[in-house]
Parts: sequence; C-alpha cells; structure tokens
Amino acid sequence: ATPTALLVGTGRGAQLGILIKGPEVLESTRKVDTIVLDKTGTVTTGRMTVVDVITAEGVDRRELLRLAGALENSSEHPIAQAIARGATGRVETLPTPESFQNLAGQGVQGVVEGHLVAVGRESLLAEWALAMPAELAAAKAAAEAGGQTAVVVAWDGSVRGVLVVADAIKDTSAEAIAQFRALGLTPVLLTGDNQAAAKEVAAQVGIEEVIAEVMPEDKVRVVTELQAQGKVVAMVGDGVNDAAALAQADLGLAMGTGTDAAIEAADLTLVRGDLRAAADAIRLSRKTLSTIK
Ligand code: ADP
Ligand code: MG
Repeated sequence: ATPTALLVGTGRGAQLGILIKGPEVLESTRKVDTIVLDKTGTVTTGRMTVVDVITAEGVDRRELLRLAGALENSSEHPIAQAIARGATGRVETLPTPESFQNLAGQGVQGVVEGHLVAVGRESLLAEWALAMPAELAAAKAAAEAGGQTAVVVAWDGSVRGVLVVADAIKDTSAEAIAQFRALGLTPVLLTGDNQAAAKEVAAQVGIEEVIAEVMPEDKVRVVTELQAQGKVVAMVGDGVNDAAALAQADLGLAMGTGTDAAIEAADLTLVRGDLRAAADAIRLSRKTLSTIK
C-alpha cells in the first residue's frame, strides 16, 4: 500500500463528508462484513417529542408532566430533553428537584417537591417492586408496537403514568441500509430501547437482526461477541453510551451530529450525520485499496 494512494483516499473522504482519523483506517474499512447500527440518533434523528401523556386513574396530567419534567430537565438524554420541553410547553414553571440521580440506560430519579419520583424504563419499577396498572401496560404496549418509546413515571411508591415519545427515522436511513446490503454487509440494530419499538424501526428501514434492551455497558460486549464469531465489525453510533463499542469495533464510525465522546472513540466521522456516508466510506476504501494492489 503506497502512502500516497491512501492519502488520496483520505482527501476524497473529506469531499464526501467523511473525516478519517488516519490513512490506515481505510485498510480495516475494506474488510468489514457486519455493520452494527445504534438506533437513537443514528438511524433516527434523535430529536424526540412527547406525543402522548397517559395517566393512571386519579392522576392529574399537569402534575405528572411537572414532576417528570422537573427531573428530566437535569438530564441530557434525548428522551429527557423531549419530556422537559414537552412539560415546559404545558405547565407554567418546572420546580427545581431537591435531589437528582441519573441512571444510565435506565432513566432518572430524585426528589421533587418532597415526592420521590422516577422516570424511565419499566425495569426501573422492578427494582422498586412496583406493579404497572393494566390500563397503562396496554397503552405502553400499543405505543411500542408502533415503534415509539414509552417511559414510565412513578412517585411515592405508585406508577402514575406513561409518557410516549416519538422519534423520526432519518429519510436517508433505508437507502443507506440497502447500500450496506449491496456491499455485502449484514446490518444489525443495537439499542437500549425496548424490543417492540426496535423491531418496528428495524422493519421500516430493512434490518432483520435486532439486539434491543441492551444496557450501555453491554453494547461493547455485543461487538466483542460478533468478533468472536469471526465477524469483522463496523459500529455506527452517536451517544456517550456508544463510545466503548465504537472503540472495540474493527471500524468505529461516529455521527458528526453526535457527542464528543463518540467522535473521539471512532476511526471515522460522518460529518453530516448521514448514514449513506458510511456506505461511501466503505466503497471508497475498497476502490482506493484495489488501485494500490
Ligand atoms: P439508546 O441505546 O437507544 O441510545 P439508552 O441506552 O440511552 O438508549 O436508553 C435505554 C432506555 O432507557 C430508553 O429507551 C428509556 O426507556 C430509558 N431511559 C434512559 N434514559 C432515560 C431518561 N433520562 N428518561 C427516561 N427514560 C430513560
Ligand atoms: Mg444513540
């Protein structure tokens, strides 16, 4: 491999909106056969909005939004920001929590106006030994079957409601995934979100393999397991929770629209956050390296 040809490849990458850490990255890009895609912020825009507020019997909607919004206001998670924005639009002022704790990959908890409040995935409730009222469980399941994310709001020992947030699939994602297949890569969707929502998003963009409900610290293990099966793995992500997996992958690709942690861990950055640039990168590396051979 002549360094000059590799550098030409790197320069062409910049024109395509791909930032490459070093010329040697093209070499690993060429051999990739599996592409693991984070869902939120990678396949979807990650700009979520609250689309439904479902309360348990006797619970005031504004009270639910106020307490949940107050807590989520302290978190930078896309779900948290959607809930804080949604609450701000529907209630006058959000109180400042007396205490706040972020539970990575699970949700948030803290004390708001003397109430011990939790917002997050259903598994949080298991830790609190709380039961979901049947009407809330049904509403949550329906939202998830439609590809939306539903989080549970609980305070003072009872489940009080469900907030449904929706995220739009990027209009370039399905085409990018078709291009990965044409290049002989197997796409895999990897997410901390629930199984039903993940399956629905996967179906809409043409992905068959889905690994859902994965805790942030376990994303890297999924990559290691695929590598142990002999796969050469590219991973595309945007979040802090993707950084370790991006570093472990044979090729890590970060969304330029994502977090600094993801960009630092990756070999390659897709400047515009367009997944099609990942296919361009793989095509470019194959072309550049076959010119050299
Ligand atoms: P992803 O892999 O899609 O980026 P995360 O690992 O960040 O997802 O989160 C996994 C799940 O944990 C979310 O789908 C949500 O149910 C829950 N969750 C995480 N953070 C929060 C939060 N701040 N508020 C509510 N729910 C949260
Ligand atoms: Mg993400």
